[in-house]
Amino acid sequence: MSGAVAPSSGAAPVASGTISGCRACGSDRLLPVLSLGNTPLANALLTEAELAGPEPTYPLDLVFCEACSLVQITETVPPEQLFGEYLYFSSFSETMLRHAETIVGRLVAERGLGPDSLAVEVASNDGYLLQYYLRAGVPVLGVEPAGNIARVAEERGVRTVHDFFGAESAARLAGEGVRADVIHANNVLAHVADLNGVVQGFRALLKDTGTTCIEFPYVKDMIDGAEFDTIYHEHLCYFSLAALDRLFRRHDLVIWNVERLPIHGGSLRVFATPAGSAPEPTDAVRALLAEEQGWGVDRPDFYLGFAGRVERLKQELTSLVARLKGEGRSIAAYGASAKGSTLLNYFGIGRETLDFMVDRSTVKQGRYTPGTHLRIEAPEALRERRPDYVLLLTWNFADEILEQQAEYRRGGGRFIVPIPELRVV
Ligand code: ZN
Repeated sequence: MSGAVAPSSGAAPVASGTISGCRACGSDRLLPVLSLGNTPLANALLTEAELAGPEPTYPLDLVFCEACSLVQITETVPPEQLFGEYLYFSSFSETMLRHAETIVGRLVAERGLGPDSLAVEVASNDGYLLQYYLRAGVPVLGVEPAGNIARVAEERGVRTVHDFFGAESAARLAGEGVRADVIHANNVLAHVADLNGVVQGFRALLKDTGTTCIEFPYVKDMIDGAEFDTIYHEHLCYFSLAALDRLFRRHDLVIWNVERLPIHGGSLRVFATPAGSAPEPTDAVRALLAEEQGWGVDRPDFYLGFAGRVERLKQELTSLVARLKGEGRSIAAYGASAKGSTLLNYFGIGRETLDFMVDRSTVKQGRYTPGTHLRIEAPEALRERRPDYVLLLTWNFADEILEQQAEYRRGGGRFIVPIPELRVV
């Protein structure tokens, strides 16, 4: 799945440090929702030599804007530190490629796109999505800040601007006559520090009749599933439709359609068109906005309840592993992911409890987890060392991993699945 992660948001960097106002509306009415303390960067795996050195940590505090209801973290870590060690994985998962192919096929048909149209993708990576437009005879333009990845895209025929996306670069492209029928941005917005610049950029590049097609994890699904481990420094914002609608309207864009997707633990896909040309919002938009009012998208209580559930989960899981340790059981962990890093560091579960970590990624094996310094082994270590329990940190792939580990489980090994509800299988 790692191939689905862009090397950066693709958006122009802004000042790092702690924000004093909302990332979307600028209000200083930011209400603390959940503090995960000072944590190391969730993807900053360490080499053995680095274990002895200092490990920088940054505050990880989630707040709710009482003015526009955007949920966000307060710290902006400099991009060169966040993405300094990014490793490019060329193969997107089959699931991600099919997902891209399907939406492209649909938009080409629905909007009658052809040789005179233009499809743009922000953070276009190696052209994994735009390639399907090319096959349909629709011209494309990718915007991708990572030079090595932009080159891979160019080699497969995907015209790519090697740049950050924001108000400035969009204005420059618009000045060159670039106007898009569709702008894609998948899992970009959550990473963006200069939200207003990026949305202004969408507007500048869209034809009056053009539309965005933007996907991002849905804050409601994060909260319902107690998925607090999706909070880490790369993820600056956690959107509801209401919060995004307010942001877009400030930049003359109207969200006229929305779809819920199961991908990435629950996501939204929104279509927005410049005001004036935008169609009447669909029933889906009206229904979801009304549903959000129903569960309290604009009220702090909804988000404060989340913090309470995370606390309960912390108590349940830490007492379970402490009891197992007390009974002399051995415990390993599965999944050296950013999610896992947030969970272990916030719950304070480390080497005193866990013997080692396993992960299928050969790039991660032999390295150590941030903060907790667990050595990462290949999954085969579960069969060889036979821990009594395995804490499953990549619980979002539970079915797949439990199946892969059938042999370990037949031998009596058990998995602890922490989220959305603690269970032992
Ligand atoms: Zn706000």
